[in-house]
Amino acid sequence: RPAARVEEAVKIYGLGATEVRALNHVSVEFPAERFTAIMGPSGSGKSTLLHCAAGLDSLTAGSAYLGDTELGSLPDRKLTLLRRERIGFVFQAFNLVPTLTVRENITLPLDLAGSRVDTDWLTTLIDVVGLGDRLAHRPTELSGGQQQRVAVARALVSRPEVVFADEPTGNLDSRSGAEVLGLLRRAVDEIRQSVVMVTHDPTAAGHADQVVFLADGKLVDTMQQPTADRVL
Ligand code: ADP
Ligand code: ADP
Repeated sequence: RPAARVEEAVKIYGLGATEVRALNHVSVEFPAERFTAIMGPSGSGKSTLLHCAAGLDSLTAGSAYLGDTELGSLPDRKLTLLRRERIGFVFQAFNLVPTLTVRENITLPLDLAGSRVDTDWLTTLIDVVGLGDRLAHRPTELSGGQQQRVAVARALVSRPEVVFADEPTGNLDSRSGAEVLGLLRRAVDEIRQSVVMVTHDPTAAGHADQVVFLADGKLVDTMQQPTADRVL
């Protein structure tokens, strides 16, 4: 079964004359252990789709599922728990806590949930993101690329079912962006993570296994990208 999906998703912002139909009957599956990119022009509904699939915002009509769990049926308290325990997020603006060290930023989701830190897993993760010599640094002492790698590690630390990333390379130069995409790719290939990423950058989407295209709130195309066709 897919890691996440939406069915006949409709999202309307505003009322009456100011109403905007950001999603117009979108159905899409995000396969488990695959990297999906959501592409489309500015204003086509990419962020709205990501936010509704990730339980950060609710649909006006239709359904969003994480695994078998329908998000719309959950009370707020359960939705908060689901986001904390079963979903990871990466944002364009990194959103690290400036007063915490790299290590503390990475383990923050576990600390907030009161969960134990699995040190073997943390070691693996730090090795994958390549920041072993920066663990005691604060975010301001890191480059943008390094900060986003910390944010990816933080998103992975609780072994979520899906990592949702909203323009994760939008604030990065192309070299740092390629590193972050390589890291998301490794998360899929090496630790069987499911990743869903919004991007308007075709090079970024080139790292994905599946690319879904939105235009004007509608799904207009879905493309499977064989390994041989991917950006390496
Ligand atoms: P994209 O991520 O593809 O740029 P968005 O999902 O951000 O598209 O936006 C889709 C449409 O919904 C746009 O017309 C946008 O102006 C509108 N929109 C997005 N968020 C809001 C909001 N909070 N209130 C009102 N309109 C919104
Ligand atoms: P990356 O390969 O992650 O993009 P850079 O080549 O941009 O890293 O940066 C090289 C080094 O310079 C980094 O190890 C980082 O510690 C330091 N550095 C880069 N940008 C900044 C910054 N804005 N503030 C402090 N240190 C920085």
